[in-house]
Amino acid sequence: MRFYSTNRKSKPVDFKTALFRGLAEDGGLYMPRQWPHIHKIESYKVHKVLRNFINIPEENLKKICDDAFNFPVPLVRLDENLYILELFHGPTLSFKDFGARFMARTMNYFLKKRKENLNIIVATSGDTGSAVADAFYELPNIKVFVLYPSKRISELQEKQIATLGKNIVAVEVKGDFDDCQHLAKTALADKNLRKRISLSSANSINIGRFLPQMFYYFKGYSQLKIGHPVLIVPSGNFGNLTAGLFAKKIGLPLGKFIAAVNKNSIVPDYLSGRKIKERKTSMTLSSAMDIGRPSNWARIADLFAGYPEAIKKDLEAITVSEKETRETIGAVYKKYKYLIDPHTAVGIAAAWRSGILGPKIILSTAHPAKFKEIIENATGIKLSLPKKLATVAIENKKSSVINPLPAELYKILAKE
Ligand SMILES: *Cc1c(COP(=O)(O)O)cnc(C)c1O
Repeated sequence: MRFYSTNRKSKPVDFKTALFRGLAEDGGLYMPRQWPHIHKIESYKVHKVLRNFINIPEENLKKICDDAFNFPVPLVRLDENLYILELFHGPTLSFKDFGARFMARTMNYFLKKRKENLNIIVATSGDTGSAVADAFYELPNIKVFVLYPSKRISELQEKQIATLGKNIVAVEVKGDFDDCQHLAKTALADKNLRKRISLSSANSINIGRFLPQMFYYFKGYSQLKIGHPVLIVPSGNFGNLTAGLFAKKIGLPLGKFIAAVNKNSIVPDYLSGRKIKERKTSMTLSSAMDIGRPSNWARIADLFAGYPEAIKKDLEAITVSEKETRETIGAVYKKYKYLIDPHTAVGIAAAWRSGILGPKIILSTAHPAKFKEIIENATGIKLSLPKKLATVAIENKKSSVINPLPAELYKILAKE
């Protein structure tokens, strides 16, 4: 299987090239050239589905999948038509563990063969950084630079990134997530820099992180066993949601998708035909979704060949306010004695507001304890930290602080 660029100016490449390049040379995102069709959904195996896209021998791919997805993905029923797919049982307690762990293992698989060194650069609005850092921690021959916006991620998230050390370099950028992403993109597109050091990305734009995210849509569906549920996906960069559209395209019988977004709501504007204004990213309670320009939109536009009408049939977007987010955390606890994090709350609020009566699956993207204070304030109960978080919480962070300027990032890359 080869992958083409959404900008269509560079040549299609194989999986391995797409994996290490991250972004295509023309700045586009990689898309598969063919769409396999999965016939027997009931007996589906994740490595068999991915084998259609990825040229790694089946037994190796099976090993990678078994090792990467070694935690449960429960579907919790809140009421007759409201289901929560808990994606936060991995080591860093967010859904990003799925993609990050799979990508780290596939990269390691290829690097071991080549005996080469690699630098990974990743911009994060919170959870990507910790998931990627954890997934690559102590892997030989790979160094990871995690760029995160100063004071715009939770203290715990920062601790998860900046206390590991060893091959994980935490870079604290005085700016917002878009600044971090811009820095990462600049470095990755810099041909001179890439001649000097081998560089790759680990954002949700990377095909190696993106494709395995189809996995849990299959998992959720196989537990629900009802056709065409509506999927509600708390969205920021739209990687999670786009992977769901891929799963549907290869045959998983899913209904429409609702992108649940916070007030950084460029996609609802686009879908409703309002003029899209460039604007600064606002900080919200669902901070991992504070994204002004969702990168994976290029994939969605490509998937639907740019027809807004086709997109609208499969995709709706609902904006949820801060007040609604907070109230939903309290209301869900009161009604179901179930705790949710602010991102999942954006999803449930959108589900309620959508007015859709049939079966709905809300993707729960993070463990509530990652946002302890917000949850305690909204519900009035006291939360204890899971052991994994309690351990990092008492360690000291170690990061390099920079302004959002490529030259400052390059200095750090050169030093390490
Ligand atoms: C990253 C993240 C999101 C948004 O996912 P995208 O794939 O960027 O749309 C939602 N919730 C949490 C907790 C996240 O970490």
